[in-house]
Amino acid sequence: MIRFNDTTALSRLVETCLGFERETDFAKPLAGGSAAEAACTQVLQDKLAADRVYLTPSCTSALEMAALVCQLQAGDEVIVPSNTFVSSALAFVLRGAVPVFVDCCPRTKNIEVAEVEKAITNKTKVIVPVHYAGMACDMERILEIGRAHNILVIEDAAQAVDCRLKGQALGTIGDIGTYSFHETKNFVCGEGGALIVSNPHFLEMAETAREKGTDRSRFFRGEVDKYTWRTLGSSYLLSGLAAAYLLPQFENMQKISQNRVAIWEAYYRDTAALQSEGLISQPYVPNDCQHNGHMFYVLLDHRYDREQVIKAMLDRGVQVASHYVPLHSSPAGRKFGRFVGDMKVTNDISQRLIRLPLYYGLSEQDQAAVMQVLDDVLRVLNT
Ligand SMILES: *Cc1c(COP(=O)(O)O)cnc(C)c1O
Repeated sequence: MIRFNDTTALSRLVETCLGFERETDFAKPLAGGSAAEAACTQVLQDKLAADRVYLTPSCTSALEMAALVCQLQAGDEVIVPSNTFVSSALAFVLRGAVPVFVDCCPRTKNIEVAEVEKAITNKTKVIVPVHYAGMACDMERILEIGRAHNILVIEDAAQAVDCRLKGQALGTIGDIGTYSFHETKNFVCGEGGALIVSNPHFLEMAETAREKGTDRSRFFRGEVDKYTWRTLGSSYLLSGLAAAYLLPQFENMQKISQNRVAIWEAYYRDTAALQSEGLISQPYVPNDCQHNGHMFYVLLDHRYDREQVIKAMLDRGVQVASHYVPLHSSPAGRKFGRFVGDMKVTNDISQRLIRLPLYYGLSEQDQAAVMQVLDDVLRVLNT
């Protein structure tokens, strides 16, 4: 059975680094503020040329932190794609803001800029570009809109660690960015994430927010002689244990990304025939975007019943996965938010998209086996 996701090879890489190559005490269980966290933060800042990284317990909590430091008020509006994970909207709803869902672009499946423009009102405070599958949103136009209307840009780059747009790391382009290190992502520690602050206006608030609303960080730096409760916050610190697990992966960032991209490219090459026969459509890499091989998906042609394809592949030992249920039509999305536009693309792709197994260490043989099964199943079911 070839599973959709398997972190065995990644764990082995980490264990090798921790067990035999390192003489520090990084693996000791430590709270936030650990040596491992400091080292991890530094490596990530350096590799991505990010101004300031804060490791968090998840991408969801990083998004909550982002919503907190933006000081959103009840009734403020946040423009979010409908084709995304719950947290891209939920973090803002927790602050009383209203998510305004918009459609995605048929090629990239990322937020459609023309729809963003239609959704702007005098209550709009934030736009959330989500880099689906590690493919860059049209950041140039989104930043332009943000500047023109005094709207903040928070990138949900959960899937886009080590991706670049014109050489600039995704997650570092907007005012704030967020990453995920959940086990389904490219760099993992079970549960984990990061907040990237590029707009210096939010630095102090971010530092306070993650330390339960206190100035504890200033205390640690010797800037105040005791720390105290200043404002809203929570515990948004990553455990030192999790950071110790992440560090070797960040040090091997290029190796991990190259491995994933090579698998992605093999899928792209091998699905070309199916695309030219009209049985599927392939993903699209935006101009000037260097992706990280996070995900390889195809859109099945309308003739197929997706559930039947998924089941037929599983019967032949290959686990594939569908993806998002559109947020604008979910019970909570309808309750807390509203949508603008016809959502044609989001509704359509949510019925037809499948994701193929892709993880660090997936062998060439297994990749070829997945392709063979996909090819066979699509031909058998093409009636
Ligand atoms: C995975 C993911 C998240 C949530 O990440 P967690 O670390 O599990 O909280 C948020 N947004 C997107 C787009 C994701 O893919």
